[in-house]
Amino acid sequence: MTHHYSARIQQALGQRKALGLYRNPNTVCRLANQPNIYCDEQPYLNFSSNDYLGLAQSAELISAWQDGLARFGAGSGASPLVTGQHVPHRNLESRLCEWLGFERALLFSSGFAANQALLFTLLDDSDVLFQDRLNHASLMEAGILSSAVMRRFAHNDTASLAKLLARLAPEQASIVVTEGVFSMDGDMSPLADIRALSLNAQSMMLVDDAHGCGVLGNDGRGSCELAGIKPDILVVTFGKAFGLQGAAVMCSQEIAEYLIQFARHYIYSTAMPPAQAHALGVSCEMIQRDQWRREKLAELSECLSGQLKHGVGLIDTQTPIKPLVVGSSERALSLSSSLRRKGFWVAAIRPPTVPVNGARLRITLTAAHSVGHVEQLATALNEVMDDE
Ligand SMILES: *Cc1c(COP(=O)(O)O)cnc(C)c1O
Repeated sequence: MTHHYSARIQQALGQRKALGLYRNPNTVCRLANQPNIYCDEQPYLNFSSNDYLGLAQSAELISAWQDGLARFGAGSGASPLVTGQHVPHRNLESRLCEWLGFERALLFSSGFAANQALLFTLLDDSDVLFQDRLNHASLMEAGILSSAVMRRFAHNDTASLAKLLARLAPEQASIVVTEGVFSMDGDMSPLADIRALSLNAQSMMLVDDAHGCGVLGNDGRGSCELAGIKPDILVVTFGKAFGLQGAAVMCSQEIAEYLIQFARHYIYSTAMPPAQAHALGVSCEMIQRDQWRREKLAELSECLSGQLKHGVGLIDTQTPIKPLVVGSSERALSLSSSLRRKGFWVAAIRPPTVPVNGARLRITLTAAHSVGHVEQLATALNEVMDDE
């Protein structure tokens, strides 16, 4: 009965449009080693990528992937438990364990899949899942679909979490989940306090450090290293600072063995290409070696806040994610188009990605930007805010 779907689809799309929330993927064209993008043949300085360290466009990483292709072929050919796990996958896992200090690493094709695999596999009917209410959609969705009870605590609010944990029954198993760095706010979770609470409540702690690993901490080890804690499970994703694609779950021997036996996203999905695993090893090496990329980010960050006029309202963060919360979706879209007319690509982020009335420009800095680029952006931002 296709007409049922057609009516439903038209209604939903119409509503999205009426609310100013309709979205379209942009098709961009990038050239290697440049921070610029082209869209409809127009050049823009891109301030909306998660390639924080500028690795995605680096000649070294590109040639590592090419080298991997020549040595290991194009695709992995199978899921990891069949014949999809090759030597570069094993090497990458060992490298991640050594660098990040965990017994085991398991590779997934995406962070979305890793988060879903973890929560679906670990949680049971009688369990309780505690999540920061701003956690990523992949975590929230897994929590909603799993048979466990999910309780959200107020964002970065340890008192709110403590109150919820206090209601746990002694026999109830539970997991506390937070991001290390929040993707839309660029703020950092109070990881040390959350670790203390989770240990006290005998609750497992999972940190999704998609935006922290590579960028923060000694040798880019991420938010947990910076906070001086080790969670039970750490998720690192490779689509951001690593400049590539995929994810790893860092955990104990015991949890890894459990996931290998029971996590459907691991068992029934083709392993990432071995050439990609090989390139990811080089990416890890570059992250550890190139301290200058993190120093550059700090310099650019300082430059941006220094150059903006008082009243522009950019939130000062310790990460390369700089939100400018403007409220309505219309205002965010209008500021984003004004910036685009001046040659800057700064995405407007609207609900449901962020809370209602929390629409924002999400500016991200990368090590591929220069101080000059950031100065140009600051001038443009000052102007568009003045012209409103
Ligand atoms: C991007 C992101 C993911 C998803 O990772 P992909 O590899 O892009 O699927 C998961 N969690 C957080 C916090 C993210 O920002």
